[in-house]
This record gives sequence, C-alpha cells and structure tokens, in this order.
Amino acid sequence: MIEETYEGVPRNKIPWAPKIDYDKCITCGKCVDYCHNRVFEFDEKDGEKRTIVKNPNACVVFCRGCEDICPTDAITHPSEEETQKIIDKLKETKA
Ligand code: SF4
Ligand code: SF4
Repeated sequence: MIEETYEGVPRNKIPWAPKIDYDKCITCGKCVDYCHNRVFEFDEKDGEKRTIVKNPNACVVFCRGCEDICPTDAITHPSEEETQKIIDKLKETKA
C-alpha cells in the first residue's frame, strides 16, 4: 500500500524519488522487478525499450534499495539532509 502522507506531510510534496542516468542504464529491468511499490516501469520511445520512473511518489521516503541492486549504478536519489529540511519546513508551514 502506498502512503499518502509522511510524518503528516502530503507525500506528493516531498521530492524523494529515484533518478535514472540513461548514460549508464542498460535496461536490465532489475529495478522494475525489485521495487515492490512499482515505481519503475518499461516504456518504449522511438521503438526502443527503456526503464522509466513511472510512479515517483510511490517511492518510500528515504529508501535507497534500488540503488544497491542496479548493476551499473544508474540510480540516484536526492540528498537525505536536503529532503529532511524540506519535510521539516513543510511541517512548520502546516503548524
Ligand atoms: S537496474 Fe539500473 S541498469 Fe537495470 S534497468 Fe534499472 S536503472 Fe537500468
Ligand atoms: S528507493 Fe525503494 S521504494 Fe524507492 S524506487 Fe527504489 S526500491 Fe522502490
């Protein structure tokens, strides 16, 4: 099940999601199989299959699991420190 809030903050306001470096990605599909939240999907562009981040908001805040299993280090996430700052700010705004 996908969480709609994180620490009381709407999930869609938190910029935590994987990013794929297409210079490194070999479209092996390991991340597609690995992520239970179905963040990744295969797509076709100009007749070529590629892996995309289809559901960024389904990514579990502060999870980095797919980074570890990607064989070419093509996946990155934002800085945890910066993301936590954004979350703290959003919490303050709400209060
Ligand atoms: S695991 Fe890495 S190389 Fe494989 S499809 Fe995903 S991003 Fe691309
Ligand atoms: S970090 Fe975790 S939840 Fe987010 S896409 Fe990767 S495996 Fe899925």
